[in-house]
Amino acid sequence: MSQVNMLETGPKFIPEDKVKEIREACSIVEVISDYVSLKKTGTNYRGLCPFHNEKTPSFFVNEEKKFFNCFGCGERGDVFSFLMKHENMNFQEAVRSLSKRTGISLPEKALTPQQQKMLGEREECFGINESAAKFYNDLLLQDRAGEEAKNYLIKRGINIETIKDYCLGFAPEGWGSVVKYLRSKNLSLPNAQKLGLIIGKGNGQYYDRFRNRIVFPIYNVSHRIMGFGGRIISEGEPKYLNSPESFIYQKRRNLYGLQTALKYIKKENRVIIVEGYIDLLSLHQAGIKNTVAALGTALTEQQIQILKRYTSNIITVFDSDPSGKKAMIRSLEPFLNNSVSPRVVILPPGDDPDSFVRKQGQKAFVDRIENAGSLFDFVVGEIVQRNQTATPRGKIDACEEVVPFLKMISDEMERDLYVQKVSQKLGIKQEHIYSKMGSTSKPGRFARSEKPVLQTTSAFQNNAEKLILRIMIDYPETIDIVEKEALLEDFTEPDLKELGKLLCMEIKQHGKHNLPYLFDKLENESWKKIIAELSFQDNYAGNHVKTLEDCIRDLRLRKSSRERKKVKALIEQAETTRDDSLSLKYQLEYQNLLQEERKIQRYKLNFYQI
Ligand SMILES: [Zn+2]
Repeated sequence: MSQVNMLETGPKFIPEDKVKEIREACSIVEVISDYVSLKKTGTNYRGLCPFHNEKTPSFFVNEEKKFFNCFGCGERGDVFSFLMKHENMNFQEAVRSLSKRTGISLPEKALTPQQQKMLGEREECFGINESAAKFYNDLLLQDRAGEEAKNYLIKRGINIETIKDYCLGFAPEGWGSVVKYLRSKNLSLPNAQKLGLIIGKGNGQYYDRFRNRIVFPIYNVSHRIMGFGGRIISEGEPKYLNSPESFIYQKRRNLYGLQTALKYIKKENRVIIVEGYIDLLSLHQAGIKNTVAALGTALTEQQIQILKRYTSNIITVFDSDPSGKKAMIRSLEPFLNNSVSPRVVILPPGDDPDSFVRKQGQKAFVDRIENAGSLFDFVVGEIVQRNQTATPRGKIDACEEVVPFLKMISDEMERDLYVQKVSQKLGIKQEHIYSKMGSTSKPGRFARSEKPVLQTTSAFQNNAEKLILRIMIDYPETIDIVEKEALLEDFTEPDLKELGKLLCMEIKQHGKHNLPYLFDKLENESWKKIIAELSFQDNYAGNHVKTLEDCIRDLRLRKSSRERKKVKALIEQAETTRDDSLSLKYQLEYQNLLQEERKIQRYKLNFYQI
C-alpha cells in the first residue's frame, strides 16, 4: 500500500505537511539501525537486508535522501514504508510511532468515531494485553493467590526485580478472572478473544485461557505485549500454554526476550539462544543479556533471519538429555538453510542454563559460550554415536544421515571441509560421500547465487542518460544546464526522458527535490525502481561537472551518429536511382554531421554555468 494512496484515497487522518515534517525530522539511519546493523560506506549506510535472506549486504540507506533500497530483493522506500513492511504497521501507525519519536505532535481532533475505531483496534489490543499483564503481575506480587507461583519463581532463582522488569504474572485458578477484570476496565471482550486471552462460548460468554499458570508476557522490540506464554506450576497438562497467533502476534517471527537483548546482541556482536523462558530470565538476571529464547517451538527460519540482521555469531544452548540432543539435531536445518554456521554449548547432564548459572556462576557460563564448538560437528558426532559405526553397515547408515545436512551447506569451501571431516570420522572416502550427495566430484554451489551489489538490473543500456539523471538527483543545481542544453530532448529511453522531466519540474517548483515525496508521486513501479537504483549509486569517480560534460558529449555523438546513419541510407538510395544531385546534397549533409561531431568532441561546459 503506498502512502499516497492512503493519503489521497483513504481517510485523511494526518495532514501531508505533518508527514513531511516527521520524515525530515527523524534520522532514517537511526530508525533502521534499531533493526539492522548498518555500516557507513561512502555516502550510504549498508547492511544485510531484513526483507530477504542474504550473505552479502545489498541493503542501502541514505540519510540525506531519507530513503532505503535493497538491490537484492527490490524493497525500498522511506522511513514510514520501512516500519510498515518491517513492523507490519499500517501507514497511520508508522507515522504515529515516529511522531512520538520525533516529538512532533499530530492533530487528533479531526477523527470521526469510525476512524478512531479503525485506527484504535491495534492500539486497543496492545492495551488489552498490557492491562491483563498488569492484572496478572499484581496477582503474582501482591495477592495471596499468587503466592505459590511467586515462591516457585524465587525457588528457581528469579528475583523480584526480574519479575517486575519482565512483568511476570500469575493467572488464577478460576474460569472468569481476567474476563471479569477486562469487563471492569471496559475493555473489548471480542478483541480479547481475538488475542486468545479469553475464549468465547458463543453466547456472548467468555472464559479465561490461562488458568493456574505463571504467565510470561511476550514483547515485541517496541516493548509492546503481543501475547503470553503460560507455564503450569504444579502437575497438569499441558506444561506450557501460549497465546495463539493473532494480528499482533506471530510466534514464528518473534523471540522471547529480544526487546531487552537487542541492544546487547548488537554491542557484543553475539547472540545466545536458549530454550525456556526461565532459562532466559535467569541468564539476563546473571548479566548475560544477549540471550533470547524461541517461543515454545523449535527455532524457525524467520527467527534466524531476524537474529542474522544483528549478528552472525549465533550460539545455541541445549540440555544434554535425549530430548535436548534431538532438539539440537533438529535445529541444524533452519540454520544451514539460512547460511549460518552456529555454535553450540551442551550443558553437563542434569543441568539447564538456569541451574548451571546458579550453581557455577556467570563466568563459568561465559567460558562455555566462548569455547562453544560448531553445531555441525556436534550433530555429526551425535549421529555417529547413535549408529554402530564399528560396523560397515553402521558407517553407511551414519553417512546417509549426515549427507542431507552436508547438502544444505551453501558455502562450497565450508562444505568441502565438512565432507573431509565426515570422511575422516567414518573412514569413508570423500568421493563416496560426494556421490551420495548426488554429485560425482566436488559439487558446485547449491545456494542461489547472489547478485553483485549495486549492479543495475534495468534493461536499458544507455549509460549517459542514466548518469545525467543521477547527477540531477544529486546536484539539483544542474537542471539549469539540462534545460538550457535541452538534453532531455535527445534521450532515447522514454522512461528516462519522462523521469528527467519530472525531476526538472520538481526541482523548479521546490528548489530541490525530495526523494520520498517524489516517490509517492510516482505510480509506475519501473520508474520507482529506476529512481531508487540511481539514487543509491555512490559518487562519481571524477567530479560531477566533468561527468556531466562526458555525458553531454556522449548523448550528442549518439544522436549525430543516428542521423548520419539515416543520411547514409539516403545517399545509397539516391545512388541506386542515379540521382546525382540528391546524392551530392546528402553527402554534404553527411560531411556537416561529421564536422559537427568533431565540435562535439571538444565540447566543454562553462564551469560558471554550474
Ligand atoms: Zn532485500
